[in-house]
Amino acid sequence: MSTVVKTKIKKDDTVQIIAGKDKGKSGKVLRIDRKNGRLVVQGLNMVKKTVRPKNQQDKGGIIDIEAAIDTSNVMIICKKCGPTRIGYKLDGDKKKRICKKCGETF
Ligand SMILES: [Zn+2]
Repeated sequence: MSTVVKTKIKKDDTVQIIAGKDKGKSGKVLRIDRKNGRLVVQGLNMVKKTVRPKNQQDKGGIIDIEAAIDTSNVMIICKKCGPTRIGYKLDGDKKKRICKKCGETF
């Protein structure tokens, strides 16, 4: 049985990395892999990847590419108060994501 990891973070959120080599850096979420609880942040957690030549003119080579980060290693950034946790607030019958510290909506 597969479980989907619950994360409140969405694509295009700005997050800060709280563990690992890019700790303290922030960037925009490009993709989320909800099945594995991982996400890719633009320009962060870069790894070298070897690319095979596509044709005889192309030599291939090594490129830098973003590697996925565990969602537990990032925090969303509130534009008012910085890295924070996401809470929810009901607005009519809609559930809104809010900053747990200051109540700012995301
Ligand atoms: Zn806030």
